[in-house]
Amino acid sequence: MENFKRYCVTAALPYANGPVHIGHLAGVYIPADIYVRYLRLKNKDVLYICGSDEHGVPITIKARDEGVTPQTIVDRFHTMIKKAFEDFGISFDIYSRTTSKIHYETASEFFKTLYDKGEFIEKTTKQYYDEEAGQFLADRYITGTCPHCNNDSAYGDQCEKCGTSLSATDLINPKSMISGSQPVLRDTRHWFLPLDKHEDFLKKWILEDHKDWKTNVYGQCKSWIDQGLQPRAVSRDLDWGIPVPVEGAKGKVLYVWFDAPIGYISNTKEVTKNWKLYWKDPGTKLVHFIGKDNIVFHCIIFPIMLKTEGSYILPDNVPANEFLNLEGDKISTSRNWAVWLHEYLEEFKDKQDVLRYVLCANAPETKDNDFTWKDFQAKNNNELVAILGNFVNRALVLTHKYFEGKVPEIDKLDEYDKDTIAAIIKIKKSVENSLENYRFREALKSAMDLARLGNKYLADTEPWKLIKTDENRVKTILNISLQITANLSTLIAPFLPFTAEKLVDFLNINPFQWSEIGHENLMRAGHNIKEASLLFEKIEDKEIDEQLAKLEATKIENDEAQINVNPPKNMIPYSDFSKLDIRVGTILEAVKVPKADKLLKLRINTGFKTCTVVSGIAEFFDPEKIIGKQVSILVNLEPRKIRGIESQGMILMAEDSSGKLTFISPTENTSEGSEIK
Ligand SMILES: [Zn+2]
Repeated sequence: MENFKRYCVTAALPYANGPVHIGHLAGVYIPADIYVRYLRLKNKDVLYICGSDEHGVPITIKARDEGVTPQTIVDRFHTMIKKAFEDFGISFDIYSRTTSKIHYETASEFFKTLYDKGEFIEKTTKQYYDEEAGQFLADRYITGTCPHCNNDSAYGDQCEKCGTSLSATDLINPKSMISGSQPVLRDTRHWFLPLDKHEDFLKKWILEDHKDWKTNVYGQCKSWIDQGLQPRAVSRDLDWGIPVPVEGAKGKVLYVWFDAPIGYISNTKEVTKNWKLYWKDPGTKLVHFIGKDNIVFHCIIFPIMLKTEGSYILPDNVPANEFLNLEGDKISTSRNWAVWLHEYLEEFKDKQDVLRYVLCANAPETKDNDFTWKDFQAKNNNELVAILGNFVNRALVLTHKYFEGKVPEIDKLDEYDKDTIAAIIKIKKSVENSLENYRFREALKSAMDLARLGNKYLADTEPWKLIKTDENRVKTILNISLQITANLSTLIAPFLPFTAEKLVDFLNINPFQWSEIGHENLMRAGHNIKEASLLFEKIEDKEIDEQLAKLEATKIENDEAQINVNPPKNMIPYSDFSKLDIRVGTILEAVKVPKADKLLKLRINTGFKTCTVVSGIAEFFDPEKIIGKQVSILVNLEPRKIRGIESQGMILMAEDSSGKLTFISPTENTSEGSEIK
């Protein structure tokens, strides 16, 4: 491990317009928490910094939708997120927020320094302005028709129907969401950070000096730099945010992506007067844990800000994870497709470590990964219960059974005992190596190897068989088993802190430091351990079925919300309707039309004659299965040739929003030729 004097570890600031879900946890907060817990166990000087990101347009939109102030929105979610993290054991040294006074001061000062140094360029651009509301409009505040797919409720930054990202000026018939009026283009002046000016610095700093970064991070940076960087606006016309602290900037605030990362610095100021040591001393290792959507901000924009300011250190590493999916589908806040942390904590009481374990074991470290409830259950039952819980329970229960809960003395060690003890230090080293290279899945797997080692040791030595014949041997076996348990209590602590605490309590000891792992005499002979209870409980099918049912309900709700009903047609007089001659008919024959995937040729008895109809229903019906079916048929439609066949009428079908067709049939058998009116 490199010799840094101290560590400043940041976790991406969650955006305060919704609760935290498993995707956030797996991508950012759990790996960062494991890392800092490990550093603390090594007695390193470390600060773990986070807080809510509370500015930006989506928060103002949510506030408008609910008819409340943006402050009400961020207060609600900040409180909720902070509590969920605490209950989940995410061990921040501070969880603050970007609406704090100290952050306003810090961010303003930061901007002012760059402004005074001439690091920004000023540019006048055209932006939509709502004359009725008297304000400029963020792209999200404008709706209109998408030029690509004609969706008439596309947003100024994106069409959610076809997924194209747009500029507000691309929209046809733009409308302000605030007043509903048509906005006009007006000149507006903004400050830009000329990223292009810093390309040489980035090429050296990232592409040459940081080949150690994760390949997904390095690759994304390289592609950004190779494409060529553009100046990026650092201000916005908006009434929610930190005012741009220069003259003539009325109505302008710092762009949320300029202000948010400075939040790490502001929040550090709230923890310690010595904050400068963590941000300005080259002896500090700065590490940003983020999701892949934040790579450009943390690897390119923020470092440029820090470098141009001049007095700050740059991040040593930016371990970004890919995305976690849920049951094969992208996690989505707007579609409520997520496992929300605050709900999990209610529904799975005292099972924080189970979720920590599953999310770490499945972390999307190198590629997107999937969370499924079946896998959650399997990992709990087959790994936590069957491996870790089982080993610890056997070691403790046997000690109580044979030696009244006192740690027995070692009699003599055989080769197998010695190998087992030696394996502890090997496992420790492999956990360390993985953690220091930000490979948390691998680290967890290695840590579990110690429990596997314990299980195998007990299974191989079979103290329950030896107790009648060789009590001294059993003493040695249980002593070693308890030493393994004590080692486990520290080795698993970064990953499973609640379980580690329980273990320490069962063993009736004080927690050990990381440096003590590997010792074979952590538990003194004669020491009394406490009565053990189960570390983990089996998770039953019923609990998993409930979660799956909850997701299924969400799916149905989403499907219903998506049904697009076509708008009604214009009114017609009854005389128009009465022109239609619709009858009940029965299908006599049905065959596929050659070389036409969608067409069936039908012979239909309409009571007064048998007619031929070519119908576009072949995708939905097997010809053999619809013979004998009663249908509604429009019999006075002028005949027309379709694929060379004369079609003498039209079958009426109902078509739903997905394009699925069903017959319109009488609900009881009705004689052919009956009129439908
Ligand atoms: Zn579109």
